[in-house]
Amino acid sequence: MHIETVLVIEDNEQNLYLATYMLQKSGLRVIEARNGQDGIDIACRDLPDLILLDIQLPVMDGYEVARRLRRKEAVREIPIIAVTSYAMAGDREKALEAGCTGYIEKPINPVSFIDDIHRYLGHAQETASIDKEPK
Ligand code: MN
Repeated sequence: MHIETVLVIEDNEQNLYLATYMLQKSGLRVIEARNGQDGIDIACRDLPDLILLDIQLPVMDGYEVARRLRRKEAVREIPIIAVTSYAMAGDREKALEAGCTGYIEKPINPVSFIDDIHRYLGHAQETASIDKEPK
């Protein structure tokens, strides 16, 4: 059985810990990178199934990381989910323009985060069968 791998590129230790914890708990393997260059190198070496990319990174920001990943044949098709602190439409567009597949806003919502990740991995949403009755 193939255990799917998520590469988390995040410079903030607390955010990295939280994302890793939640992803592992949902049955995924996690690889961590704390800056953009490491993230690119690790992505090309390990070919993860999905990349979770913080946009606010030192030295090389997430937009640049996404652009560089999209120029590399080996990793071109891997979905990249941007994590942005801003709820501003411009940042979402910028992330998509840079080659990201989608985005998640900070602070990460633990309730929807795992569903979002599994959806981007192409899994059926188990929770869709739970009817949300108005109370
Ligand atoms: Mn950051």
